[in-house]
Amino acid sequence: MAQDIGSNKEAKPSPKRRKGEVFIIRERCKGCAFCVEFCPTHVLALDTEFNSKGYHPPVVVNAEACTGCDLCGLYCPDFAIHGERIKAKAKVEVNDEG
Ligand code: SF4
Ligand code: SF4
Repeated sequence: MAQDIGSNKEAKPSPKRRKGEVFIIRERCKGCAFCVEFCPTHVLALDTEFNSKGYHPPVVVNAEACTGCDLCGLYCPDFAIHGERIKAKAKVEVNDEG
């Protein structure tokens, strides 16, 4: 009887390393929702709370999905949000000499 014993891998989720991070300046936001609409990985939603200007700023609802592509920053008319890529630590070299 043929048995498949070649693979002992369990179906566990691959470890997630965050690729990007998004930064929001709530008080600059005018609640247009462009960032929410255009984020390709659905990281953002509008807050139910208001900022001091009376607008609903975005909040992060799916941080793990952020790639740091900065599309949110490109679309925001008020420079209230931007994304940054997180560099892999292994590639960062620190020259501490001197
Ligand atoms: S695009 Fe800018 S102004 Fe519009 S909701 Fe997002 S952060 Fe606020
Ligand atoms: S940086 Fe890109 S993936 Fe992250 S929240 Fe902004 S649009 Fe979405």
